[in-house]
Amino acid sequence: MTDQSRRRFLSHSLCGCVFGLAGANALAKSTPGQLDALISSDYQPSDADERGLWHLCDRLEKEVAASNLLIRDEGLNTYLRNVTGRLLGSYRSDVRIYAMRNADFNASMTPNGMMIVNSGFLARVRNEAQMAAVLGHECGHYLRLHTVRNWRSMKAKSAVMAVVAIAGAGATGATGNNWYDLANAINTGLLASMFSFSREMEGEADAFGIKLMREAGYAPHEASAVWSQLIEERKAAAAARNKRYKDNSVSSFSTHPPSSERMFQLKAYAMEMEGRQREAVTSETGRAEFVAATAPMREAFIEEQIKLNDPGASLYLLNSLAQDGWDGVLRYNEGEVYRLRDEEGDAQRAADAFTQAVRFENAPAEAYRAHGYALLKAGANEDGLRALSRYLELEPNAADAAMIRFTLGH
Ligand SMILES: [Zn+2]
Repeated sequence: MTDQSRRRFLSHSLCGCVFGLAGANALAKSTPGQLDALISSDYQPSDADERGLWHLCDRLEKEVAASNLLIRDEGLNTYLRNVTGRLLGSYRSDVRIYAMRNADFNASMTPNGMMIVNSGFLARVRNEAQMAAVLGHECGHYLRLHTVRNWRSMKAKSAVMAVVAIAGAGATGATGNNWYDLANAINTGLLASMFSFSREMEGEADAFGIKLMREAGYAPHEASAVWSQLIEERKAAAAARNKRYKDNSVSSFSTHPPSSERMFQLKAYAMEMEGRQREAVTSETGRAEFVAATAPMREAFIEEQIKLNDPGASLYLLNSLAQDGWDGVLRYNEGEVYRLRDEEGDAQRAADAFTQAVRFENAPAEAYRAHGYALLKAGANEDGLRALSRYLELEPNAADAAMIRFTLGH
């Protein structure tokens, strides 16, 4: 499977459930206090059907584990495992987490306990509690057996089993099918529905996630903050394109939108918890831990968003992250958004952002290059050349080093 097809496969066929819609009527059915796990730890598939489903997911997991898109940063992976473990307690060894390079805000869970989180999700959450809200939601799908329950209620199992059989044959090479074929086979409405969840299940996973958050000692109101940030980002993206933002929760056919009903329901759960507990609910957000663990990858995650060329969303994201303080990476990328957008006044906005970026200790080397060129353009030759020299000092082996040296007259 090519990276592109794998990406399409993962984002369209699997759960995709963080975006899965949970409407208000469905959400009202379960509250965090009423839900328990439906399985014991060390759960194994209980019959041939379920084994077939697991077999398919195990094969997919091998593909994911070997993917070029897998983020192998050890610190980040240990951190993700620890936070998931803190949420899951005695179930901690039943779930494996894979962080993938994919700019979409998404996460998913398969019935065999493979959890996938995208870099687009990690780029947007601001602290550990927000991250835990989404991880807890995915764990809710696993512990409440959502995929299996979905599957058991489906009438057209024979078609599903046919695809499982393709996967099995592919494993032996008997039919010559590879993952590319399989991904295309799976990318049908039938299988997509097998791996996506109903509104009711999404509501249940939201409630379960917030229960896990509370038990692990995270501030529950951070769950709704994830959604409000996402909704505001969508609004900003739409506004930048002169379009109206549509909260598709009013339509029962929508599959992906971050709905305001869902945000309000999560807020209500958090308030209910705060009201019910005699002792104050923890306000732990784990901001410092999150910052430390994601620091080595943060620049790449943000750059990935800027490259999507969605200035409204990018500027919203940068300002959202800057609520915890501006720094060199955020300012440099702010400048990049303006430089790439290139509307009237943007060149000056970009130059200003680069000037601010290099004042921070964590300014990326590229910030000095951008700052240098902006200064040269403005006629400030001496300062411009000094900034370019600084870039070369920081990145002596940069791909454009020879060109910069030429500009510097070296
Ligand atoms: Zn979900």
